[in-house]
Order: sequence, then C-alpha cells, then structure tokens
Amino acid sequence: MYTIHQSQIKLVIGATARLTSLFTALFAILGSSSAHAESLLIKNVHIISGVAAKPSSLQDVLVQDGQIKAIGKQLTSTGPRLNAHGKFLIPGLIDSHVHLDGVPGYTTSKPEDAEMLKQAHEQMPRSYLYFGFTTVLDLTGDPKFIANWNQQVAAPKAYFCAPVVIPNGYPAVWMDKDAQFTVPAAKYMLFDPKQAATYPQHFVEAAHTPSAVVNAAQQDGASCIKVFYETGFGPKRNLPVPTVEMIQAVVQAAHQLDLPVFLHGNSQDAYEFALKTGVDTLVHGMWHEHKNADQLANQERLKQMSAEIVKAGIAIQPTIQVLYGEQEEVNPEFFNNPLVSHAIPAKLATWYRSAAGQWMKQMLTEELSLSTTNPDEQYQVTKKQYQKPLNTVKRMTAQLSADGAKIMFGSDTPSGPFYTQFPGINGRWEMDRWLETGMSLSKLFAALTIENARALKLDKEIGSIEVGKQANLLLLTKNPLDAVSGYDSIEQVIVAGKIHPRASLSASKFK
Ligand SMILES: [Zn+2]
Repeated sequence: MYTIHQSQIKLVIGATARLTSLFTALFAILGSSSAHAESLLIKNVHIISGVAAKPSSLQDVLVQDGQIKAIGKQLTSTGPRLNAHGKFLIPGLIDSHVHLDGVPGYTTSKPEDAEMLKQAHEQMPRSYLYFGFTTVLDLTGDPKFIANWNQQVAAPKAYFCAPVVIPNGYPAVWMDKDAQFTVPAAKYMLFDPKQAATYPQHFVEAAHTPSAVVNAAQQDGASCIKVFYETGFGPKRNLPVPTVEMIQAVVQAAHQLDLPVFLHGNSQDAYEFALKTGVDTLVHGMWHEHKNADQLANQERLKQMSAEIVKAGIAIQPTIQVLYGEQEEVNPEFFNNPLVSHAIPAKLATWYRSAAGQWMKQMLTEELSLSTTNPDEQYQVTKKQYQKPLNTVKRMTAQLSADGAKIMFGSDTPSGPFYTQFPGINGRWEMDRWLETGMSLSKLFAALTIENARALKLDKEIGSIEVGKQANLLLLTKNPLDAVSGYDSIEQVIVAGKIHPRASLSASKFK
C-alpha cells in the first residue's frame, strides 16, 4: 500500500520552495484574524455538550470575545442573536492526524496552474471548516508553516508534532541523500549509532540525542513528538528502523516535558514495537498481519495484543480512510459524489481528471498490475485487492474497541498524493469507516470532540460546550447521535466566536 506523504514527494522533486512562497503570499492577502470582539447569543438550542451523554432541553448559549460566557434559559444580550429553535449545538470537531502542507496530488509548479493553486490554497482550510473540523493536528508539521496557517481568518486552528527521524529510514528516505541532513528535514534527526558512517561532517552528534531533539521540538512549540516504524513499501523497502532503546529514550525525554509520542506504524511488527517502547499513540490501524504466520495462532496473538494495548494505555488511530482513499482513486464515479464539489474547487477537480492529474491513479493501477483498461473493471479488481487489508484493519479496530482501547479520531488527510483524501471531506468519510467497524455514534462523537481534546491536552480550552471554553461550535439541524448523516446537516460553523454560514465555506464559490 502507498502511504507516501505528499510533503516527501515534493521534497524529492524540489518544488517545495516555490509552493511555500506562493502560500506565504496568499497569507499576506488574507490578513490576520482579529474578529474576537463580537458577541453572539444562540437561542433555544439542544446542546450536545460532550460532557452529558444526551442532547439538553432547549437552552441559550452566550458567546463573547471568542469564548462561551453563559449557558442557560432566557439569556439576554444586546448583540446579534441566532435563533436556533430545535436545532443541535455541538463542539467543533477535532482531527488529530492531518498534513496541511501542499495540495493533494499536485507535486509540480506550472505557471499555467497558478490561479488553480491559489484557489486550492484558499479553499483547503475552508474545506476543513465546511465539514465541521475547527481544530487539526499536523503530524509532520513545521513551526513556521503552522504559524502562518493560524494567521488565516477562516481556518481550523492547527497544532503540530515534530517528526523525529533516522537517516535513510522512513520518511527521510524519500528525500535525496544530502537533503535529509539539512534543515528543516534534519532538524529533529536522531544520531543512530548503527549508521554512524552515514552522517556528514557538519552533523553534530550532541545536538541529535533523544533529549536534544525533544527539547528543540518543545522550544519550537510542538504539541507532540512523532516517531516512525516503517520498513517500506512501493519502491522503497528494507528500510532501517530505530531501535527499541532509541525510542524508549525519546519517550522518556518527551514525557519529562509532558509531550505525548505518536508512532507511525501499520504492521503487526509496528504494533509489537509500540508495546515495547511505551509510545502514547499508534497513528494507523493495523493493515498488515504477519505474513506466512499460522493463521489461527496469529489470530490468538492479535487478540492478546489488543488486551496488551489496552493495558499499556496506547491509543489507536484506525485511519481506515487511508486504504479506502487509495481504492477510491480508481473509482470512475468519484467526482460525481455531490459532497466533492463542496470540498474541491472546480478548476482543481477538472485538473485532477486530466491526464496530468491522473498520474497517481496511473501509478496505482500499474502497481496493482491491473490487466484490464476498462475503468469499471479496474475499479472492481482494485476493490478486491483492498478487501484483505480493509478487513484486517476493521477487525482489529473492532477488537480494540470491544476491549476498551482508546480509539482516537484521525483521518490522515492526505496520506499520500491522493485527490480522494481532500481536506475535511476525508474526515467525514473516516466517520463512515468507523461505523462500518460497528463503532457506536456516541463513541464516534466523543472521539471527535472531548477525547481528542484530552489526547492533545487541550481539554481545558476545547472539546466540549462549557462556560469558559473557546466558542468552537457547530449548529446542526439533525442529531448526530441518531445518525452519522447528522454531520451533513451543519448550518453554521463558529470558530473562536466568529460565525461562518456553512454555505459560505463551500468550494462551489470558485468557478
Ligand atoms: Zn500521516
């Protein structure tokens, strides 16, 4: 399976600088957000607070200076009012696995695409909001990029994890040999004694010990540390991985600074590695079981591992939409889904369907060695090939959930250069994938709100509707605890007290 990160491909082809400068220019046009002074009184609404299990009776919510000031009956205010009679108010949603840099599937920088890219960069943060995501965690973020992102007026608030890597391992291997040793790629690189000969002269070992890189990450404002256990896929295989001792030292240093550690891993080996190293979160579901293992004995081991994961308190992000999105790249009907036109601007969608925009689909169909060129047949064969890993990840997620593991909501948007994993809409589809594992709507709701806030250590500020918390709120016409389609009934998106009618956030504003 693919899971090549967008940012890595761009680094390989060296287009990052140009895209970044375009992005910076765009931020300058948009200006900075300062719209906190307004007040807003939301009248007669059912509150699903994230603390109580059921919608409340009709209540009023007073928002002031970006915060929830009061909740009660018959509140008054001289400011603007929003009559929400009989509707549902829920906390803004949190996606704790995204990658904000770059337009999914666009890896070059052609002058004729400038207008299309400008629209795409303007729309992507709005697409997160359109689907209700008001907070996101970039798992491989750069401090400057995140600071710029947070200057935008209509955007989810972003936090980031610092990626702690080793040379020639995943994801550094996607860069060329020298680039991986220069900043920003090498900023949080560990010194790996097994590869001592590979480092260039200028690399200072003392600045790359576990505690040195973790300290640097904290000083840069990182909310967490990301580490990797990945032996490779596609053209890059048999990659070096960090030792248990190295990651144990990273975990120890991070926990001293109260930073959680997130581990990239999607194989049974990676899960064993997580158990040995004491990381806080595994950022993927398990889609590769041990190959050639005695099937029955291995099923027993997986059950046992699930119990061990619960005992160790390790949280899991199933990210089922990673596999599903790869499969959907081959779906000839993808762009006919009516939700897509709200996420992806028309110009970009047209480009995705052009020969230039179909490169990843092309690569994927070659990798899958599809014998047919008929689009419908290609899709059917692809679905068959993805059935096994999809079954594995769904079964393991169901097992973990039944055992009481912490299942964390993260969509991995985008997990690679796939237009099928566009901001916002990809998180909405990950919700569907969760329900397919048998997860309850109330568990999903908690994972999208208060549980993610806790995992990010932001539960004093966001994740529920309580006085004193930030006014990140969604007004829905349907109850999301009755059906997942409740999340499609968003009418208003309120970010730090500022109200955005949902329709105003749709990509359909671009022609
Ligand atoms: Zn990811």
